[in-house]
Amino acid sequence: MEAEELYQKLSAQIGAPPGSERIPRLWKMICNEKEASLLLAMPGTVEDLARKTGFSEEEVASMVRVLFRKGVTFEREKGGSVQYSMPRHLLQFHDASIVWPEAPADFLALWGEFMEAEYPNFARAVASMGLEPFTRVVPVEQTLEGGSRVLPADSAVKIVEQARRLAVTKCTCRLTSKKCSAPIEVCLQLNRAAEYTIKRGSGREITVEEAKEILRKSEEAGLVHVTDNRASNEHIICNCCSCCCVALPYIKEIGSRVLLAPSRFLPEVNAEKCTLCGVCVDACPVKALSFAQAAGRDSVRVKEDLCIGCGQCAYRCPEEAIDLKEVRNPEFVPGAAA
Ligand code: SF4
Ligand code: SF4
Ligand code: SF4
Repeated sequence: MEAEELYQKLSAQIGAPPGSERIPRLWKMICNEKEASLLLAMPGTVEDLARKTGFSEEEVASMVRVLFRKGVTFEREKGGSVQYSMPRHLLQFHDASIVWPEAPADFLALWGEFMEAEYPNFARAVASMGLEPFTRVVPVEQTLEGGSRVLPADSAVKIVEQARRLAVTKCTCRLTSKKCSAPIEVCLQLNRAAEYTIKRGSGREITVEEAKEILRKSEEAGLVHVTDNRASNEHIICNCCSCCCVALPYIKEIGSRVLLAPSRFLPEVNAEKCTLCGVCVDACPVKALSFAQAAGRDSVRVKEDLCIGCGQCAYRCPEEAIDLKEVRNPEFVPGAAA
């Protein structure tokens, strides 16, 4: 197979936008032709892959180690042997390859170009499919109304306290998009994702206390906690900004929450306490707040169909005039008991 065809095939395999100019180039930068043929032969054990490609088992074993480190090969124990596979989709290729410890600067720059030039249309196409969101917002816990029902899945602190193992990696979106100066080393990896990170060397192991400190610093920096959209098996807590992230900017732009489920909470503004200072309006990462006339006077209005229930407005309000109220039942979180 011609070299260009190999990289086109790898791009198609992960569902890259048809005709993408940059994804085949990213593949070409991260793997040579021999490695590309091996990836296209996956999934399989070392023995399977040697048989399919005609490479020796020693060569395959050595190549999968290199590709694992680069983030384009994953290992899984199955029936007493180790199976190797390539990224399943574009976002997995994005997230894993960007934290390749030896990633050259021009590789990261090309990802940045892709995010600017090609990703917006891809995100719009994914949003139009109406799939269940993969991720969900977790609110700043201290902003929840007193006495609220708080499920473990609603609490970033509980999620990290319950994790078997924790690691932190750099935020792949900010590493490549570079649109803001928000903290970078804040992507929390939990359980199997933490084990993968530590084994691969793409991040570092941390304690529960360090993870809580990262959550606190992220809240202070105006970042939004985002986790898996299911009640169990949490494997990540991202701390997202509204400019570089793969989901938040599109909520603002498309007015859709398909890429990201909101939390179970919605802000309520106490008009008696509110001084109309505008801090919350500026702080909202999806521009869901505005000033409006209500009952003959100015007030802060929440666009409920846009709000993701992150709690940043309440966290920043100097008058403590906002509380987050529970508006969705526990079953809203897939896998949560009623
Ligand atoms: S999803 Fe959020 S925290 Fe995760 S990498 Fe992107 S911006 Fe960073
Ligand atoms: S209004 Fe904005 S800042 Fe407040 S909870 Fe909703 S999305 Fe977050
Ligand atoms: S930050 Fe608080 S006081 Fe200021 S406008 Fe918002 S709700 Fe009102």
